[in-house]
Amino acid sequence: PVQSGTSGDSLSQEPLAGSSPRACVASLSCVIPCRNEARNLALLLPQLVVVLSSLARDWEIVVVDDGSTDATVEVAQRWRDHGVRLLELSRNFGKEAALSAGLDAARGDLVLLMDGDGQHPPELIPGMVARWARGGDMICMVRTDRKAESWIKRIGTRLFYGLIDRDRRYRVPAGAGDFRLLDRQVVEALRALPERSRFMKGLFAWVGFRVEHIAYVPPPRPHGRSHYSLRALCSLSLTGITMFTSWPLRAASVLGGVLAAAAFGYGAVLAVSYMLWGNEVSGWTTIVVAMFLLAGVQLVSLGVIGEYLARVFDEVKGRPLYLVKRPRDNAPKEHQR
Ligand code: UDP
Ligand code: MG
Repeated sequence: PVQSGTSGDSLSQEPLAGSSPRACVASLSCVIPCRNEARNLALLLPQLVVVLSSLARDWEIVVVDDGSTDATVEVAQRWRDHGVRLLELSRNFGKEAALSAGLDAARGDLVLLMDGDGQHPPELIPGMVARWARGGDMICMVRTDRKAESWIKRIGTRLFYGLIDRDRRYRVPAGAGDFRLLDRQVVEALRALPERSRFMKGLFAWVGFRVEHIAYVPPPRPHGRSHYSLRALCSLSLTGITMFTSWPLRAASVLGGVLAAAAFGYGAVLAVSYMLWGNEVSGWTTIVVAMFLLAGVQLVSLGVIGEYLARVFDEVKGRPLYLVKRPRDNAPKEHQR
């Protein structure tokens, strides 16, 4: 059950308010990050080739192999003579890095990002291109149906977007994933960002430009399971929050201030009671509770600082985001012997 919420509207020729329509698609690159998607990719590529051929004269599909251990590379190579380019990363770097590799390699004036697992239906691409032609710079597919997800994942998603959406100047919209069509100027803006911790959803929001949303319902995965376990999602969320907000640091300061004020008030009460009634040796419970509370708050605050320090450390090391293997067919003769 695939639908494009505004497909009727997206096919209209009217330019978007405040923008001029674009003539036609000169060249289109489709970037697909893949980790062990051989069977899904074998289903997707034939459909994609048909759709892209009908849309643009000049197109390419860039399959980024993110350290797959199955036949993903072989499947992509089988399609090499039909417009598919293969970029093999030297190991698994994660989807965010694979997307960055694909953006660096893409040559088209328009770049489409999509998953290789069949959850981003190629039928929706013409609607996206139509929106671009009407003046959108970044066309972003927004999933509307989350019923298939567990309640814990849905609550986590709510919480995450609540925590990261702190900046009024740009928004990270919930439900907007990596199924996007980007104009060349957006691609260049993303490539110019120097950071190592690539939280793409945040970077897409940060660069701005004219963003258009189209609703869709993702179909289930034909083969295999999602790569994102609850733990992986938590870790990605933490990266997102530390890379795009600094409120946890502020929260630690505020918490410290509140506790210090409370301690000051309680100290005053104790002093007055001592002067009125003298010293009674009790309060063991108070001491133990206060000690644990303070130790807990201090360790949490240290942890918050540590998370930010870890990000700074990653940035300072300045290692490349990803490494690409030499293309197999370009290997010099002596290595082929
Ligand atoms: N992926 C990747 N590297 C990874 C994990 C995932 O390139 O380390 C790719 C994966 O092959 C797929 C896309 O990212 O094409 C989305 O992954 P998945 O379907 O597991 O995520 P979900 O749809 O659950 O968000
Ligand atoms: Mg998927």
